[in-house]
Amino acid sequence: MSSRPQLATVFAVCLLLGMTAHGSVGRADPRATDGYLDQTRDRWERLARAVWDTPETGLGETRSAATLIEVLQKEGFQITRGVGGEATAFVATAGSGAPVVALLAEYDALPGLSQAAGQAKRQPVAEGAPGHGCGHNLLGTASVAAAIAANRERSARKLPGTIQLFGTPAEEIGFGKTFMIRAGAFQRTDVVFAWHPDDQNRVTNRTRLAVTAVNVEFFGRAAHAAASPWLGRSALDALALFDHAMALMREHVLPTARIHRMIRDGGSAPNIIADHALGEYWLRDTSVVSVNEMLERLKKAAEGAALATETRAKVALLFSTRDPVPNDALNAVLQKELERIGAPRFDDADQRFARAMQHELGFEELGLATAVMPFQIKNGGTASSDIGEVSAVVPLAEINLATRPLGTAAHHWAQTACAAHPIGYKGMAVAAKVLAASAIDTLGDPGIVKAAREAFAVQTKGKPYVSPLPPDARPVAPK
Ligand SMILES: [Zn+2]
Repeated sequence: MSSRPQLATVFAVCLLLGMTAHGSVGRADPRATDGYLDQTRDRWERLARAVWDTPETGLGETRSAATLIEVLQKEGFQITRGVGGEATAFVATAGSGAPVVALLAEYDALPGLSQAAGQAKRQPVAEGAPGHGCGHNLLGTASVAAAIAANRERSARKLPGTIQLFGTPAEEIGFGKTFMIRAGAFQRTDVVFAWHPDDQNRVTNRTRLAVTAVNVEFFGRAAHAAASPWLGRSALDALALFDHAMALMREHVLPTARIHRMIRDGGSAPNIIADHALGEYWLRDTSVVSVNEMLERLKKAAEGAALATETRAKVALLFSTRDPVPNDALNAVLQKELERIGAPRFDDADQRFARAMQHELGFEELGLATAVMPFQIKNGGTASSDIGEVSAVVPLAEINLATRPLGTAAHHWAQTACAAHPIGYKGMAVAAKVLAASAIDTLGDPGIVKAAREAFAVQTKGKPYVSPLPPDARPVAPK
């Protein structure tokens, strides 16, 4: 009997009440968390600055993790430390029962990216020291702020469910979350919302790359390089030959593939035939299937180089993370909240600073992103992240917020400079609002978890998660 106008009226009323067509169990109002985050804005900027001031690299984020934990504990979150054998990993939990909505906090810095805050020219705070060149001080702080805002709203409205905040260290060295997964940390989690600093405002979707990193080691025989070189077998020769094979392989991989490397040990002196050499190689592509194929070819190249030089090769996995499993049900939640809240509101001073930085770097002086990108099937950057592993265990979606000038990239002093500057803080504030509101949406609407689970089942084809870590792998930071 119902006519279209009647249906439209019912739907409009549902929207006004913050309900959805799936049926609402609480009176969840995602807008409520916006107000709290606006009122407490200074607090989060101080917290982000405190983490920025003590940059710590993967697995060494002792002070950064402790700073975030202290804030969460004061808000009544229960803390589990040392998750997955990582001293700086933690899980903060508030509330009880289903649904369990999780946010991810990263807080590791990058080596050598120290940079003065708000300086448009390269100017390290301390030469050679680490810096927040990926903006993880903003990332961790926004997620903590969002978890607290969502939990206050959960409590005030007596909404069902649990808010989790995962303190996930060592993202930059590729494996922090992978060890947490192996320890079962995400077993109770229904959905995960994540974000990353960027030069754009968007839901990131289907662009991150899978990556596998290995150490390729050669063992030879030392000898005096002038007196008796015929007695030696050079591990460095083997590494050089192997590296050449990899360089030739680059022509015969998919156009989307990326192969990078660095030599960590090439011997101790030119006049000693090197009995040991070590290179670190990273293989990336749009799918983990392609990366695994390249890995098999890399192993053959190592064996071939060893055979040619009468040395021995050893290939050892450092870390591996797949391309994220997309979840359009959760993408829709993030896109809706991102569009509702809108892009960061940068002022003239921010735009001038951004253009000065672009001028310094020789980039087009485009300033800062001021709009939210419409949802697209492929939208985002090609950096890899261990959130790929999390997305294969539990439904996950991720947004980007502008925290640096257009055209600039992460892993650069430009992001360090902006990560303790109004540009970074404004992006962080929007990220916190979107994450908090999306968490409240999910607590108030069982249909979101149901739709996310269905999308997850389709994407993973119901196959169980298999960890890429060998059984004996332990979380150890590279030297
Ligand atoms: Zn990052």
